Amino acid sequence: MEIITRFAPSPTGYIHIGNVRSAIYPYLLAKQNKGKMILRIEDTDRARYVEGATELIEDTLEWLGLNWDEGPIVGGPHGPYFQSERMEIYHKWARKLIESGRAYADPTPPEQIAQYREKCNQEKVPFLYRNFRPENTTEWKPGIPLRFKAEPKSYTWHDEVMGDMHAGPEVLDDIILIKKDGYPTYNFAHIVDDAEMGVTHVMRGVEYLSSTPNYLALYEALHLAQPKLVSLPHILAPQGNKKLGKRDGAKSVTEYRDDGVLAEAMLNYLACLGWNDGTEQEIYTKDELIKNFSLDRIQNSGARYDETKLLWLNGQWIRRIFTEQGAEALYARTTNFWPEIANDFSDEYKIKVLSIIYDRLKTLSDLREMTTYFFEDPRIDIDMLVNNKFVKKLSEAEIEELLKLTIAKLTDLKEWNADNIQIILNELLTETGKKPAELFSLIRIAISFAPFSPALNLTMDVLGRNITLARLNTVARSI
Ligand code: GLU
Repeated sequence: MEIITRFAPSPTGYIHIGNVRSAIYPYLLAKQNKGKMILRIEDTDRARYVEGATELIEDTLEWLGLNWDEGPIVGGPHGPYFQSERMEIYHKWARKLIESGRAYADPTPPEQIAQYREKCNQEKVPFLYRNFRPENTTEWKPGIPLRFKAEPKSYTWHDEVMGDMHAGPEVLDDIILIKKDGYPTYNFAHIVDDAEMGVTHVMRGVEYLSSTPNYLALYEALHLAQPKLVSLPHILAPQGNKKLGKRDGAKSVTEYRDDGVLAEAMLNYLACLGWNDGTEQEIYTKDELIKNFSLDRIQNSGARYDETKLLWLNGQWIRRIFTEQGAEALYARTTNFWPEIANDFSDEYKIKVLSIIYDRLKTLSDLREMTTYFFEDPRIDIDMLVNNKFVKKLSEAEIEELLKLTIAKLTDLKEWNADNIQIILNELLTETGKKPAELFSLIRIAISFAPFSPALNLTMDVLGRNITLARLNTVARSI
């Protein structure tokens, strides 16, 4: 049997990190089994529809490399893939239910329904619409909602993550199938679509678990086979016990891209949030995730979002791309992340800078702050220099003398390269008897005035002889 999964977002805004696992896991399962993942846009809630949201969803999936096999853009045999274009299909299935006596048109005005609800509240009994079902049904026509005629009974079912489940008849109700605007509800539309599209595994957030008995009743009434049900636990906010939502500042997935997180790291992080393969492995390529993924290792409780871990993984991925694919491959990812001043410099020069600094980056956007002194002379800040915890052990006279000696030896250096510079630095240590931390902090700050820099000889090599000497001279004169 071919495995068919789907990601079925509603175009109500951007995809944030709390809900993108509902795309990742269906993708992994489908790919692992040489099956298909469908992208279906659930746009029947016209009040919540947001212009441009579908494009955002597509952009997010494309960036993460979660290429859908059927859906918008790519098409496929089960289209259309926008629910709003499938109205006839829902109406066809709705009529089947009317014919079999399992659905009825409900003209009850909303105020009346509100009164029923209020009555239940006062009597402290759960509100079930089936207890107020109108007796005289009318013909179903536009403008009148269509309701399911529920039969109160118990259900047991198996959820691939939550295990064996049971619910009593109190959950079963006359849910609305088609709203008065003619659009189907999520409850009805997804049942029809999953069946028509041949979906074998319904993977979605755990918030749909409580409604599952109603879905099971619909499968029965429509004589449809029940797909495998997979409830994905929530991703929890960094603090407390609530799920991560837009209100807790859950950023959109693509915002992380714009902040310099690599797609590989994002996918790796989110896939492993609430799933593991039972080993200690932390870094996974997409192919490794596809190979190792299994439904039975999705954890059944919420997993906590931890941005520090994401950024750590991102740093690992930056190093990995550099070492496995080379400096140019990493450089190709950095286009938008350099300080503006770097625009005037060649790719070759920027690759050199990247090659000595990449292993300190947590995100690509760190380049913006961490590399400015490679492109323009830093602002001289003598206070910062003399107050540095190592430099402060040197007297002003010593600082001046050390700078002069450094300048003299570097001026005499024949061939300017990292190895030769290191030899000079070592000689300076022996000749002056200073501690490496004192001497090297002095030189490092004098040429960069930055809190961190790559190894001193590498930094000087990339800056070049003229700039290095000019900066040292400027500082020597300012002391
Ligand atoms: N449209 C629903 C949502 O965005 C999808 C739920 C499902 O995957 O069935 O929450």
